[in-house]
Amino acid sequence: MEDNFTAVGEQMHQLITSLYPICRSITGDGVRQSFEIIKKFIPLAVYEVPSGKKVFDWNVPKEWNIRDAYIKNTRGEKIIDFKNSNLHVLNYSIPVHKKVQLAELKEHLHSIPEHPDWIPYRTSYYNEAWGFCISHNQLISLEEGEYEVFIDSSLEEGSLTYAECFIPGKLSDEVLIFTHTCHPSLCNDNLSGISLSVFLIRHLMQQKRRYSYRFVFAPTTIGSIVWLAENESNVFKIKHGLICTLVGDTNEFTYKRSRQHSAEIDQIAEYVLKRKSTENKIIDFFPFGYDERQFCSPGFDLPVGRISRATYGVYPEYHTSADNLEFVKASALQESLNIFEEIIEVIETNKRYINQSPKGEAQLGKRGLYSVIGANNEKMHFQLALLWVLNASDGSQSLLDIARKANMKFEDIKNAADRLFECGLLKEKDS
Ligand code: ZN
Repeated sequence: MEDNFTAVGEQMHQLITSLYPICRSITGDGVRQSFEIIKKFIPLAVYEVPSGKKVFDWNVPKEWNIRDAYIKNTRGEKIIDFKNSNLHVLNYSIPVHKKVQLAELKEHLHSIPEHPDWIPYRTSYYNEAWGFCISHNQLISLEEGEYEVFIDSSLEEGSLTYAECFIPGKLSDEVLIFTHTCHPSLCNDNLSGISLSVFLIRHLMQQKRRYSYRFVFAPTTIGSIVWLAENESNVFKIKHGLICTLVGDTNEFTYKRSRQHSAEIDQIAEYVLKRKSTENKIIDFFPFGYDERQFCSPGFDLPVGRISRATYGVYPEYHTSADNLEFVKASALQESLNIFEEIIEVIETNKRYINQSPKGEAQLGKRGLYSVIGANNEKMHFQLALLWVLNASDGSQSLLDIARKANMKFEDIKNAADRLFECGLLKEKDS
């Protein structure tokens, strides 16, 4: 362990703090700027896909950039300033500069009456519009009169930017971790996922790896569709996948199963989360949410699940200015990182073996693995694990399958398998 518990969580929070001010969207310089910062932590390959390119049933949208925006009142005072919060501008707003009366202005204002101090986050990617987001208290205090609205943005042919970090392992089989990158100053959604991915990459780069790992950083929905379209010929390599988002709050974990329902990743995530806390939730796949929708579309049906804490869309701070640097906690980020690391540890070691002496029980005593005299509980438990592994290792069952069947800890079954492998009683399947 190169870092202590809180230190990594603090570093994860610091990375979120440095990315927080940037105005990101599904395209544009905010995304590129964010990748430049991430590149200081990990190697990253950045890809640009041109506007208009057809990707399955979609087209890559025009590129959006914004430099400034404000609303001035009759006295010429800025009452809304993009420089104070990038949430103030409807994401993907077309440029505008004109004077409007209050009634017309209000048609372009968005607020949340239930949380009158918060600024909402709103987007209009596929419908050209302009607008501002403001606190409800400010909206109801606006006086009649003429307002100057100004949005210095551009919506032009350009490209969509996504990035990958590939960490090769012994196998060409891949584990995919996907996190979205398109939200502006919002922390849990999605900076927590970005930060977790970055620190998970740093951890994995120091480990011996059986699988290869591919981390994808891309905008939600259109980004995963673009990535799938660009990489269609290689998706067969994905053996396990996780969508990583909403991992910085202090709620219990939720694992959303893949469309396959009981893929190996589904079993492993469920096992790790449930042994951590019975409060953690496992939910079935449904075709709504984040990018699991694309990876689990019927034409791909990949074994990709999702790990989140706060449930999608139902926590009050979701898509508001209250999803800020105080809402995400260093300790929660660290805890989430640990969960991903534990899941990967099981993925790496959840092998299938073939018993090399399957006719009758192998004689464990002559290999020093069986002692009747002076057997204590611990030894008995170990011997039982040995017998389970030997009996179940016909190549069809993974160590996790065996652990569940034996009602024993995965680690105990794995240790037994390691010992049996060392003395030649097991061979790895497919190696
Ligand atoms: Zn979101």
